[in-house]
Amino acid sequence: MRMESKFSFLINLLVLQYLAVVCVSQDFDFFYFVQQWPGSYCDSAKSSCCYPTTGKPAADFGIHGLWPNYNDGSYPQNCDSGNPFDEPKISDLIGNMRKNWPTLACPSGSGETFWSHEWEKHGTCSESVLDQHGYFETTLGLKQQTKLLQALKTAGINPDGSTYSLENIKDAIKEGTGYTPWIECNRDSSGNSQLYQVYLCLDNSGSGLIECPVFPRGGKCGPEIEFPSF
Ligand code: 5GP
Ligand code: 5GP
Repeated sequence: MRMESKFSFLINLLVLQYLAVVCVSQDFDFFYFVQQWPGSYCDSAKSSCCYPTTGKPAADFGIHGLWPNYNDGSYPQNCDSGNPFDEPKISDLIGNMRKNWPTLACPSGSGETFWSHEWEKHGTCSESVLDQHGYFETTLGLKQQTKLLQALKTAGINPDGSTYSLENIKDAIKEGTGYTPWIECNRDSSGNSQLYQVYLCLDNSGSGLIECPVFPRGGKCGPEIEFPSF
């Protein structure tokens, strides 16, 4: 090779390497699949809640979101403002979304604001793997698959305002889903620690649950936590 072409070959190689690093660094390692207990959102000391315009949700866990994450615990967000939430793309899923992904924030809404926030903040960071329809469909599928409330009830853990051991709650979810959950607690208006959100992990191709590579920080529970009614 002539000196000149060797030089341009090297430059090309460097450019390709740079592009590879940029592309890979926009990627992510796994997803958190996060479900919330509506009773603990509503009776929390920090927030009151508003039922959706479509009515009070069922006494069941609801979806909070599907969040791309890195193995070091950090996460990308708001990755593509050029791909806004577009409800017509998921019109076939809306009935299912209202039931399983209800919004409890005030003022009351039908869900679009919450879904749009989740898509734009988190979903746009995994759009290379799941497009909008795939993102919402996959998340709804995980809710059906994990059946958290059933797993807890089977173990005698009911949303009745009693207090249960955190270990028993984790064991029941592991027994039901096959995977170890992370439990996030918040506090009710009397300051009691209560079961607020359950985190499970999904591989970065969106194809199956995995053991979580890392658990979130914060939201720690005491050894005994309340499971409020809704
Ligand atoms: P908070 O500060 O209430 O725990 O979380 C606020 C928001 O930050 C969440 O609703 C979620 O959008 C995002 N978030 C918090 N922790 C994590 C995390 O560990 N991973 C990801 N991907 N997002 C998170
Ligand atoms: P995040 O998870 O993705 O960053 O934060 C949740 C955002 O969605 C907050 O701005 C919150 O006000 C809004 N939101 C709307 N409905 C709900 C709900 O039912 N639960 C939670 N946790 N946030 C909701």
